[in-house]
Amino acid sequence: LGERIIKFNIQPVKKANGEQLILLAMDDITDTKNDIHEQKVFAEELQKQITEKVKLERQKNDFISMASHELKTPVTSIKGYTQALHRRFQKEGNKEAEGFLAKMDNQINKLTSLIGDLLDATKVSAGQLEYNIDHFDFNELVSEVTEEMQQTSRKHQIKLSLDQSISVSGDRNRIGQVITNLLSNAIKYSPQSDQVFVSTVLEKNQIKLSVQDFGIGISEQNQGNVFEQFFRASGFLQNTFAGLGLGLFISSKIINRHQGELTVNSIEGQGSTFTISLPVENKS
Ligand code: ADP
Repeated sequence: LGERIIKFNIQPVKKANGEQLILLAMDDITDTKNDIHEQKVFAEELQKQITEKVKLERQKNDFISMASHELKTPVTSIKGYTQALHRRFQKEGNKEAEGFLAKMDNQINKLTSLIGDLLDATKVSAGQLEYNIDHFDFNELVSEVTEEMQQTSRKHQIKLSLDQSISVSGDRNRIGQVITNLLSNAIKYSPQSDQVFVSTVLEKNQIKLSVQDFGIGISEQNQGNVFEQFFRASGFLQNTFAGLGLGLFISSKIINRHQGELTVNSIEGQGSTFTISLPVENKS
């Protein structure tokens, strides 16, 4: 039977007629003791694993942060020289070299944006992203970003529909960054279509901005994951698109910091709608 642990409980009892008795209770608690011991070992093991995971996560973040910082300087310098060369060839009237340099500049911008995303992601994870809060006209920002994005896309027409103007309190640049991200995704993930709809709707206490595309869409299962760090939907279609899977992670954190919400609605094969909801200031 092996070793057993028995708990003895001894208690003196006095009967009504004054007689004294001793009550003796024996309880086999071997299993309970083992359970408690096992639970303790399990809890310690779990704690160890969590500590290790946190440490690895911090090391990963530190590495990404350091690597992207190191990449930033040479890329900025390459951009400077590219622009200087571009101006020189322009002066000389060398159209071919000018064209190559314009393409180079475009690629450098993509690289800068990827490095920016890596830096932002590590800051967001460490809760170190800084926000400069200001009051600004939301529609103005949406129009500005839409216009900028329209310039970078020849194929897609961005259709804008704006509700009445409203002031929002928040970091204008960061919210602009989110809108840019949603628009660039809408264009990127809808290569077979040529339209993107952007609209704002003012509701009672909030302003909603929707970016709708008619592209590859996102499966129901993946819709729950797209806001996670490094998540990228996989599949034959999805594999053809470049990216790091950071844009939506950063965007949703930025919107959450503004007491807002970023949500997705999509039908695979038909398109996606991403919606930002932000609280608005009192209209009094
Ligand atoms: P990235 O585009 O760099 O991969 P994001 O964080 O912006 O990173 O998006 C995460 C993933 O969500 C993408 O890899 C893609 O699978 C999916 N996704 C995002 N936007 C769209 C969209 N408009 N249509 C279809 N899929 C999208």
